[in-house]
Order: sequence, then structure tokens, then C-alpha cells
Amino acid sequence: MNLHSMTKTNFTGNFTQQEPIPEVAIAAAVAVMRSGRLHRYNTAEGDDGEVAHLEQEFAELTGAKYCLAVASGGYAMGAALRAVGVGPGDKVLSNGFTLAPVPGAIAAVNAVPVFVEVTQSLTIDFEDLAAKAASSGAKVLLLSHMRGHICDMDRLMQICDAAGIVVIEDCAHTMGGGWRDVASGRHGLFGCYSTQTYKHINSGEGGLLVTDDAEMMAKAIMLSGSYMLYSRHKAAPPVDTFEKVKYVTPNVSGRMDNLRAAILRPQLADLPAQVARWNALYRTIEEDLRNTPGLQVIERPEEENIVGSSIQMLLPDVAPAAIEAVVEGCKARGVELKWFGAPVPLAFTSRYDSWRYAPAQSLPQTDRILAGLLDMRLPLTFSLEDGRVIAEIIRDEVLQIRAATH
Ligand SMILES: *Cc1c(COP(=O)(O)O)cnc(C)c1O
Repeated sequence: MNLHSMTKTNFTGNFTQQEPIPEVAIAAAVAVMRSGRLHRYNTAEGDDGEVAHLEQEFAELTGAKYCLAVASGGYAMGAALRAVGVGPGDKVLSNGFTLAPVPGAIAAVNAVPVFVEVTQSLTIDFEDLAAKAASSGAKVLLLSHMRGHICDMDRLMQICDAAGIVVIEDCAHTMGGGWRDVASGRHGLFGCYSTQTYKHINSGEGGLLVTDDAEMMAKAIMLSGSYMLYSRHKAAPPVDTFEKVKYVTPNVSGRMDNLRAAILRPQLADLPAQVARWNALYRTIEEDLRNTPGLQVIERPEEENIVGSSIQMLLPDVAPAAIEAVVEGCKARGVELKWFGAPVPLAFTSRYDSWRYAPAQSLPQTDRILAGLLDMRLPLTFSLEDGRVIAEIIRDEVLQIRAATH
């Protein structure tokens, strides 16, 4: 056996192990189950129900006027697109670098995704956005803050306002984050969030939708399946807003239930503390990886209020075989990296060219960036010491491959 490999550090943590649901949340869930009142509108006299409370609390946290809790993040995006009036054949702009639920939400309303290039900062390319806004005839941008990277939102809104483009934000990876202290999801017309297990608060599945626009929220509430019970909502527009929309908005059931809301409320209260823990872990790894020859960390702008629940790094101009060797080397030592340049989609990672229900599009800049992009989840079950070990392993593997190929 090679002596070097014997002395190598390995990591034994689990990249998909989330923290347990807090005991108070478990108790709240048990209380809902004991009551038998799991449906959001099945409330007892004098009780608004867990879902209505969650909506109020999330509206308060984000500073939004209105909030609706729904079945998933994908559902939230679909409801926003429908409320805005996107229909069959309409073009919808979106990031070329995102995950499958985003183009999927566009396809679910029979609209057509138009993908925009990504920059080295992993945010949407403004030049390509302006060009495609003009050339495609799209009236809506479904902006994905993919892996938590938030673009210059002031500039983005200027571009979209000037082009008459409505912005819907996919904040699946930015709940608790923001741009210049404005919560992520509050620049566009709608903000959409996910409460799925791999996001920032965990109810297995679930989603949230926020807006300041009364009519838009009335439509979204009707869409979610409120029947004529919308007056039970506590973070909703005045009931007369519904008069205009209630007979013409279809019920596309996608409500959240009281059980999930009960699990989420205590987690939402903990979110700022969790964000601080994520960021401490993120910054530890980022610092230890910085200045690794051949590896580039993604520099985060000062204006960005990050949530470091995952970290990305670039190995620019490294041959595919060498990147595969880094991924394999890390994996052998317990560190799970996802490579966005892989020829076939694996696990949660797929690329714009894997979404073949959309017309084929060419994004050469995005291809170049994704070819060298590595991605790693950071569950809060990892300690700062774990972070140091992980960074040491990645650094070591990158340096070894580099030594072998230079
Ligand atoms: C998870 C995710 C969503 C929403 O997902 P759901 O599983 O439907 O809650 C949206 N966008 C991105 C980028 C995601 O990763």
C-alpha cells in the first residue's frame, strides 16, 4: 500500500443529512394530528390555523404585503406564471444555469423557456438578458437565484422595467438572503420559495409565494384552491379584491396543510440564526480554498446578503478528465462534489441541454462556465472543523491533479 494514501485525511460526514426537526415543531405537528384538522380551512372556532399563521409570519419576515403557502416551490412558480397571465406558446426568459423545476414550471403552463447566459459570478448575464428580452418577445423573466447567487438586483430591475419585463423570482436557494438588505424575492412582482428538505426550512415538500400586488395575490389564492374560503387568509388582500377574479380563476389545487405549516413555523423563527451558521461554515471553506492554484472561488459582492447552504468553485480551463479525477479523488475521501459539466445529468444536477421539451438553444458562455463548475452542498450537520477537513481534501486533490497534468 502506498504510504501517502495511508496518511490521507478522509471525511466521514453525510452530505444529505439534514438536522432533525426541532422538538417544538414536532410537538406542534403532534398537536395538529391530535386535532384531526389537517386541511388549512378545517379550523376550529377562534383558531386561524397553522397555515394562516405561517403566511403572516413569512410576510413579516420578507416585508411583503401578502403571502400564500402552497404545496411546493415548483407550484409557487407555476401559480405566479399563471397569475401574471403566461399562457400556451408564450416565451418566458430564465437562467441557462438553474435546476429542472424552473423550466418545468414554464413548461407546465405550456409556455416556452428562453435561456439566458450565466456569468462567471453564476448570475444572469445582463447583456444577453437585454438582447433576448428584445429578440424573443418575452414579457416575463423567471429569475433563478441558482445556488444562492444573487445578481445586482437594482441593475436587473432597471433592465427589466425598461424592457417591460415582469420579474418572478425563484428563491429556492435564497430564503433568508437578500440584496442590499432587501429580502430576496422582494424586487420582482412575485417571490417564490421552497420548503423542501434540501432548502432552508424543511417540511419535506412545500412552498411560499409573496407579492405586494393585491390582484396578483387574489388570483394566486384562488388558483391554489381556496374555493370561496379566501376570507380565512390572514396575509391576503381585502376580500373585495377577489370579486374581480373569483369566477375567472381556475382552482388548480396546491394548498399547504396545517401539519407542514406547524413544522415550518418554529424553523422560520430560527432562520436568521441558521443563516449565520451556514455563513460561518461557508466562509471557513471559502477561506481555506482561496488561493488554491487552478481553483477559483466565486467572489460574493458586498451588497449580497448570502446564505451559504452550498458552495461552488470553478476549475477554469481544466480538461474534463482532470475534473472527473478531482471529483473521483474527493469522493474516495468522502467529499461529494457535483460537476455541472458532466456529459449526462446525475442526481439533482441537469443542464439546459437536458431539458429537451424546450427548443434547442445554444449558450456557449454558459457551456464554458459549467464545464469547470463544481458544486457542494453544506448541510448544517457539518461543524466548522468538518468544513476545514473538506476544504483540505479538495485543495489536496486539485493540487495533485494539477501536479500530474502540468
Ligand atoms: C428546489 C428548487 C425549486 C423548487 O422546488 P420544489 O421541489 O418544487 O419545492 C425551484 N428552483 C430551484 C433552483 C430549486 O433547486
